[in-house]
Amino acid sequence: LVERLRPFTSTIFAEMTALASRTSAVNLGQGFPDTDGPAGMLESARDALFGGANQYPPGPGRPELREAIAAHRARYGTEYDPDREILVTAGATEAIAASLLALAGPGDEVIVVEPYYDSYAAAVAMAGARRRVVSLVPDGDRFALDLDAVRHAITPNTKAILLNSPHNPTGTVFTDSELATLAELCVEHELIAITDEVYEHLVFDDTRHRPLATFPGMAPRTVSISSAGKTFNCTGWKIGWVCATPELTAAVRAAKQFLTFVSGGPLQPAVAHALRHELPWVDSLRTSLQAKRDRLCAGLAEAGFGIRRSEGTYFVCADIHPLGFTDAEELAWRLPESVGVAAVPVSVFTDHPNEWKHLLRFAFCKRDEVLDEAIERLRTLG
Ligand code: PMP
Ligand code: GLN
Repeated sequence: LVERLRPFTSTIFAEMTALASRTSAVNLGQGFPDTDGPAGMLESARDALFGGANQYPPGPGRPELREAIAAHRARYGTEYDPDREILVTAGATEAIAASLLALAGPGDEVIVVEPYYDSYAAAVAMAGARRRVVSLVPDGDRFALDLDAVRHAITPNTKAILLNSPHNPTGTVFTDSELATLAELCVEHELIAITDEVYEHLVFDDTRHRPLATFPGMAPRTVSISSAGKTFNCTGWKIGWVCATPELTAAVRAAKQFLTFVSGGPLQPAVAHALRHELPWVDSLRTSLQAKRDRLCAGLAEAGFGIRRSEGTYFVCADIHPLGFTDAEELAWRLPESVGVAAVPVSVFTDHPNEWKHLLRFAFCKRDEVLDEAIERLRTLG
């Protein structure tokens, strides 16, 4: 294995899910729902499978999907030309990797906010670029973007910043004022923003998701990424997309065409259907996830954890200090066997594990009876 990939030989999700299944633990580690998406979407996939949509789709994605993505994105007030400004990818994961491969290389730096989704560091490394990590800072019970730290991390070699909001693993949704300042920095320093918005619909209470591309000066310099997996409970489908200027889209496509070329032929019309017709279903998903968040948070608090605020995503972070533990990584490896619950230590998403070793990430995108069983088991911890 080449040196730049040596730190990335396994993923916490694969390891924790394997451990959960070996120990019959309730798996609140890897974030995936345990119920299916809207029936209309599944029927549309079945119709496409039996309707002959089983060969290579067009390189940029099937036209009806690109048109549906443009219409969906227009809800934020941003216009994208389905032919030149939208690219369908193999999930957000490929969109992120292809964007980095296309836009950053040896000698370039990419600012990454920690804790970060695990594929970011690997994708920056595959591009041969260098990551500059900026840590989120605690702000009451939420986490804030440290804009001074971002400012200090910018050098003449900085090419891009990678931003995920709603944010995995913390559940933070960055505020309009945080995003506005970040946008100013991007414009001032001519940075490209690569935004990971896969949880764009999964925001709770009064929180709203506002794409960074909608801030002044950002549309020409933002690669906006999302995917169907989280919005429509189909994480295994791996249909994602990029929205950006024709130049940026063409650059990402240059990399993407030699990674997978195309993928998910018969799933693409189903996602087009979902984007056009299933947003009311997504509203009920959001309501249900908010109740699940509250259910799990109440149970975790009762078990003795300190709860951080989750404003979106599938996840909530819980502080283990009040329970008398000090090392969440060590605890996470022990928990499936000792208590029968799997969670993910937040430190694995960082370059500074000592500063993040008090937090465990729990997924609440599970049926209520699964959450209740986990809560019951965690009660024995205290
Ligand atoms: N980004 C974030 C923040 C995620 O949590 C995930 C995991 N679902 C992905 C990207 C990957 O998305 P996809 O499955 O569409 O590749
Ligand atoms: N996005 C999911 C999570 O954060 C898992 C994705 C994966 O398994 N790679 O849990």
